[in-house]
Amino acid sequence: MIQLTSAATLEKAINKARTVKPRVHINRFGSYTVTNKATGATYTVECSKRDNKRFAHCTCKAGERGQACYHAAAAVGAHIVLAAERATLNF
Ligand SMILES: [Zn+2]
Repeated sequence: MIQLTSAATLEKAINKARTVKPRVHINRFGSYTVTNKATGATYTVECSKRDNKRFAHCTCKAGERGQACYHAAAAVGAHIVLAAERATLNF
């Protein structure tokens, strides 16, 4: 579980995601399947919010150890866009 405290938490992972450009598939709001197109490796990232704290959980080795990985960074990017769309629609 990775706690998302600030953009800096994910900064390196975001940079890696920009390089790798993984495919992010939306399973549902808060659940994403991230695929490395080069290797075909697929991981599931769950984004959640508890007590006003934001968390991401990725099924890769780094994610299981609580390290910010680029899968989480890519999924969080998609999650933020979705959350903003939902906020706009729920006026
Ligand atoms: Zn990961």
